[in-house]
Amino acid sequence: MFLPHARPFAARAPRPERSSFRTLVPMFAAIATIAIAVPMSRAESEDRPNIVVIFCDDLGYGDFSCYGHPTIRTPNVDRMAAEGLRFTQFYSAAPVCTPSRAALLTGRLPIRNGLVGGKRRVLFHDSKRGLPADEITIAEVLQGAGYATACVGKWHLGHLPPYLPGAHGFDTYFGIPYSNDMDRTAAAPEGRAAFLDPKIAYWNVPLMRQDSIIERPADQTTITRRYTEEAVAFIRKNASKPFFLYLAHSMPHVPLFRSPEFENRSPRGLFGDVVEEVDWSVGAVLDALRAEGLSEKTLVLLTSDNGPWTTFGVNGGSAGLLRGGKGSTWEGGMREPAVAWWPGRIPAGRVTAELACTTDLFATVHGLLKIPLPDDRPLDSHDITPVLTGAGPSPRRDVFYYRDSTLMAVRRGPWKMHLITQAGYGQPEPVEHAPPLLFHLEHDPGESHNVAERHPEVIDELRARIAEHRAGWTPPPSLLDD
Ligand code: MG
Repeated sequence: MFLPHARPFAARAPRPERSSFRTLVPMFAAIATIAIAVPMSRAESEDRPNIVVIFCDDLGYGDFSCYGHPTIRTPNVDRMAAEGLRFTQFYSAAPVCTPSRAALLTGRLPIRNGLVGGKRRVLFHDSKRGLPADEITIAEVLQGAGYATACVGKWHLGHLPPYLPGAHGFDTYFGIPYSNDMDRTAAAPEGRAAFLDPKIAYWNVPLMRQDSIIERPADQTTITRRYTEEAVAFIRKNASKPFFLYLAHSMPHVPLFRSPEFENRSPRGLFGDVVEEVDWSVGAVLDALRAEGLSEKTLVLLTSDNGPWTTFGVNGGSAGLLRGGKGSTWEGGMREPAVAWWPGRIPAGRVTAELACTTDLFATVHGLLKIPLPDDRPLDSHDITPVLTGAGPSPRRDVFYYRDSTLMAVRRGPWKMHLITQAGYGQPEPVEHAPPLLFHLEHDPGESHNVAERHPEVIDELRARIAEHRAGWTPPPSLLDD
């Protein structure tokens, strides 16, 4: 069973003020509150959409066909985009797994919660720590609002009981709690060879239900199918009440595995097979929503935690026209494919170049449910409902690109300034740039043409923005090496 919540959401709600009247006034106030609360709560219940987040692992900007991949076929994602909104400038908050996931769920840059930095960069199978209990997750907010909440898939925010999904607002959990390439066994060949012909026995990763291990090593060949079945069952079971489903695929992170039905189907080879199974999964989830009559009551967001792991060659994905990949703060490391779907609320068939980030889901959910944002901590989250509905521009103007705990680059509007660059995950030393590099991302999304010398005023503005961003808070120490 799950551990009880270290700090239930209800405990965070502001306490009602004490009345100075002892008897009559509280009684009248209570009657008045009931009279007002009944119609309000009914109205609110009709405006409480289900929230579904489908989070891929290491999927690149160029890996869906609606993002231009020539040989990976993703008809379900393409249909989702045709019925919804496709983003072209949507970011994860970190170029690697653990900090990116912490940011998605908390609306805060990972530099604020300790899940960055250190020597290890992400949590591992022998890590002792995880997402701190005092972080507020979207799941806690929605659970506190009466939603059924489920996490299915890769968690990677701590695999020990105090850090598992049950401690962070999820009623249920089913999945592999960290990356599928961890806890390598003696059966695995040395180095990268294990990934060329991957076998289940090479990685001793557990499959968990709640906080119990039910299979080890997890049979990864059926993991995408089983995650999907779990997600669909959750949707069916909770069709009559609001729910939050966080479906975080383990794929297409290496080692790549797919079900027998998807073997040797894609012209793109093994990586294409894996993405095509993820595409099937997207279709199965949307079909379940349609079948239950929930299409117009459900916001679905599909995106990825970070860019493609290009150092794995043909087994890594593609960032399309963007430079770099996983681990780097070039665009390919953090700009992600992203599709939002909510028939009736999100107009069909639009493509937007408005800026948005995974951290924006936190404020957006608060806005949709009319729940005030917490005011006891800095947030990095904007309500992007106007972008979703087409009602207006994005309130987001900036993107901060951290590699671990180092601020490497900043974007404001179309301008991106790099202070430091580094090729990618496990690649050569960082290069400091003085003067910084400057790219106009709308003219030059591939970051090929440094225009710093021609725009010193933009460099000054971006430096000022960084100073403003850094003022008034100190990052906590890293938790990743404990
Ligand atoms: Mg990842």
